[in-house]
Amino acid sequence: MTATAPVTNWAGNITYAAKELHRPHSLDALRALVAGSGRVRVLGSGHSFNEIAEPGPDGVLLSLAELPPEIDVDTSARTVRVAGGVRYAELARVVHRHGLALPNMASLPHISVAGSVATGTHGSGIGNGPLSVAVREVELVTADGATARIGRGEERFGGAVTSLGALGVVTALTLELEPAFEVEQYVFTELPLAGLDPDGFEAVMGAAYSVSLFTDWGAPGFRQVWVKRRADQPYAGFDRAAPATEAMHPVPGMPAVNCTEQFGVPGPWHERLPHFRAEFTPSSGDELQSEYLLPRGSAVEALYAIDRIRDTVAPVLQTCEIRTVAADDQWLSPAYGRDSVALHFTWVADPATVLPAVLRVEQALDGFGARPHWGKVFTVPAGVVRERYPRLGDFAALAGELDPEAKFANAFVRNVLEG
Ligand SMILES: Cc1cc2nc3c(=O)[nH]c(=O)nc-3n(C[C@H](O)[C@H](O)[C@H](O)COP(=O)(O)OP(=O)(O)OC[C@H]3O[C@@H](n4cnc5c(N)ncnc54)[C@H](O)[C@@H]3O)c2cc1C
Repeated sequence: MTATAPVTNWAGNITYAAKELHRPHSLDALRALVAGSGRVRVLGSGHSFNEIAEPGPDGVLLSLAELPPEIDVDTSARTVRVAGGVRYAELARVVHRHGLALPNMASLPHISVAGSVATGTHGSGIGNGPLSVAVREVELVTADGATARIGRGEERFGGAVTSLGALGVVTALTLELEPAFEVEQYVFTELPLAGLDPDGFEAVMGAAYSVSLFTDWGAPGFRQVWVKRRADQPYAGFDRAAPATEAMHPVPGMPAVNCTEQFGVPGPWHERLPHFRAEFTPSSGDELQSEYLLPRGSAVEALYAIDRIRDTVAPVLQTCEIRTVAADDQWLSPAYGRDSVALHFTWVADPATVLPAVLRVEQALDGFGARPHWGKVFTVPAGVVRERYPRLGDFAALAGELDPEAKFANAFVRNVLEG
């Protein structure tokens, strides 16, 4: 039930100061543990790159991995109720077996559902909001060990999903589903930056259900364009870049076998929407990541701003991915209230050389009101972050109501909410 060895995140750049990792086996044990503890944070699948999950040296770090991994699909309502510790890979397989689908997925299926929606995790697509848009209801264990449900339609639902883990332990989520669909994935190479005026950017990113651009910023433009086309939607093809002649990995030099099937071979949604296969290491495995969301209308200007500093960025970069995220209404979502472009950076795994580049990127994107991804490396001051979230005060009020003694507010959360 309790592990005492040092616990690290997936990337290995964070060793949690909490002395123990508790893994309760039942909801009652979880409730008792929360009620009897001073400060608590949940560790999901540990794929965040910063101290968002850290409870501090005297706090309790909690894993839901040994609670029953419930996945209950209601085919007539087209919903699934999924336990707080379940990862997208397991969820997607079960949902697909019932002939249903999630609307979108992140680049990898290895991440927990509750941890992902807590940080605003997203995939790509002009019409696709963050993964949290599928959530209809959240079930929580709150600070006193009581249970609570918050459903869509309630005013406080706006703070309940993308909550940074600050409201309580999410023990289950109910997600809306749609009929299963097939996706064809195509990769193209060498898309010039010069061709991307704002209309060109919209045309490229709107060419299919989900589109991603990749570059190492070694030269202007994009080395790869990943186009994920829903087989049940019209597709006019993509003629702005040349089709790849071999299977590709977004990180140069990494084996394409880790990636989902390409060359337009139709396959189920959950085996094409992520870039990486569930059974292989995603991305490079030895890395840090940063990401910033800004208004989509500023995408081309922002890309030129990064191009101007590529001599700083390229030497410490493994790959940069450009995606689009439709506006949503979670108060703390980086896509809150604005259709967004997301500029993602997979850095080398050396914080000392990476942090100066992170700072330069943040300076370059500052004028665009960029909101950093909550689960990745950033140095934007808390006061600046706060200004970019118009409903932050409402979130702080909700956290105060559900967790009056701030049991779930670690240093990361306090910094964001209070400065
Ligand atoms: C290789 C790689 C690829 C990635 N690709 C993408 C991508 O495509 N798109 C994207 O947007 N992000 C991406 N990310 C970032 C990742 O999705 C987020 O960091 C996400 O939060 C990971 O979920 P997790 O369960 O691992 O979260 P953790 O890091 O374990 O936790 C994140 C937060 O959620 C809280 N939390 C977790 N579970 C619960 C719970 N049950 N109840 C309450 N709070 C909880 C934690 O306390 C913490 O505050 C990627 C990360 C990696 C390592």
